[in-house]
Amino acid sequence: MLNSSVARLSALLAARKISSVELTSAFLERIRSLNPVLNAFISVDEEASLGQARAADAVIASGEAQPLTGIPIAQKDIFCTRGRLTTCGSRMLSNFVSPYDAHVIERFDAAGAVNIGKTNMDEFAMGSSNETSYFGPVKNPWDVAAVPGGSSGGSACSVAARMAPAATGTDTGGSIRQPAALCGISGLKPTYGMVSRYGMIAFASSLDQGGPMAKTAEDLALMLNVMAGFDARDSTSLQREPEDYARDLEKPLAGLRIGLPKEYFVKEVDRDVARAVEAALGEYRRLGATAVEVSLPATRLSVPVYYVLAPAEASSNLSRFDGVRYGYRAPAYADLDDMYRKTRAQGFGAEVQRRILIGTYVLSQGYYDAYYLQAQRLRRLIAQDFVEAFRQCDLIMGPTSPTVAFDLGERSSDPVQMYLSDAYTIAANLAGLPAMSIPVGFGQGSRPVGLHIIGNYFAEARMLNAAHRYQQATDWHLRVPQACPDGAPGTRE
Ligand code: GLN
Repeated sequence: MLNSSVARLSALLAARKISSVELTSAFLERIRSLNPVLNAFISVDEEASLGQARAADAVIASGEAQPLTGIPIAQKDIFCTRGRLTTCGSRMLSNFVSPYDAHVIERFDAAGAVNIGKTNMDEFAMGSSNETSYFGPVKNPWDVAAVPGGSSGGSACSVAARMAPAATGTDTGGSIRQPAALCGISGLKPTYGMVSRYGMIAFASSLDQGGPMAKTAEDLALMLNVMAGFDARDSTSLQREPEDYARDLEKPLAGLRIGLPKEYFVKEVDRDVARAVEAALGEYRRLGATAVEVSLPATRLSVPVYYVLAPAEASSNLSRFDGVRYGYRAPAYADLDDMYRKTRAQGFGAEVQRRILIGTYVLSQGYYDAYYLQAQRLRRLIAQDFVEAFRQCDLIMGPTSPTVAFDLGERSSDPVQMYLSDAYTIAANLAGLPAMSIPVGFGQGSRPVGLHIIGNYFAEARMLNAAHRYQQATDWHLRVPQACPDGAPGTRE
């Protein structure tokens, strides 16, 4: 049961072979036994989850079930959840019980899903390793000496270690795809504007996007069907006809044109990662796809552009945390200014403070033109490259991360090295394009490797189709990590 996909669990629930209460209890039990080691969850409310499960069982019994009714879903602790702790991985919000639900939470509730717990994350989603969390690092279930990736590392870990069948994540520069790759699961960042950011604590608003994380592409499609949709409370939410993202899953891949950016297959990619990605591309050729070389010349500017724009937006978004109305407040201070200063110095961790400093600097008078405006111009060039590339291909593929999961502590004192983890993922956020990662093998230390698939705007169904056909032909997505007591490393479902 723990290894089953969401699609399979949904069928078992519909056939009344299992109940949601049984399913939810099994995952809660799993969390109880593994979370002390892996630290994937910040908070779990067993009673609340079981209450939702009982309600779901009643809905199923009445014949009104939807595909996710009764399915436990782990929610990244960036999504405000009414009456429950919502910390964003920060001391600043370590006591914050949200008075309202994020749009995404409302959607899962309306679909009858069970919230199985709130997952650990880098503080305010700033990081690539989960080491910036105020609640301590998450461990990679494939090797507890390794990081799970970040910032949605708790979500990725929870799915990989079978503590939840699926989870939500958010992705500003790679935070769904990179941890998915490092933990050997599938994850998708939708086209910007498709999933409402209402109640999703803001990091860099023009880049942030919520999305699903699961074992299979089919499960991602089921989740996206719930998560996507217009919401008037987010001014960048897109007004579009609802789609069924699972509609094209079975389509044959004959004729699919895969663009391989020549800039992606360079010496910065580790040999083991390159080997697994090449093998996956070989599988795609066998499935009938053809490869064409494309070029994304401005892509090399993605990381520097991102580290001007994202901190600029973050410095503005995070100015609301002042200790006045909610969240952490310094216990002792002299006057109002001192209260602000001490609250922010104590409430934010080092990485968040670094971003606020950079962001404030690039927005300051005299530097705004030189840094912020210049970065905005380059952002346009990066997006323009994709317009050209998609004239010649349907999807773009390459590695998700230049390396497999690195060791805990290995990059935490070297921010630039850490920032380069997202060299391949950031461009899709800057351009607003949908992108995903699927597991395609193992590299050094038997740590997972992810394949990055970028699509044109609104090409989610096509991307999920390509991922699903690959998963039907291979079994990487079914491997179970070592930290799972009932599965030896690399064993199958
Ligand atoms: N690692 C990147 C950062 O630290 C991306 C994080 C994200 O996507 N939320 O900003």
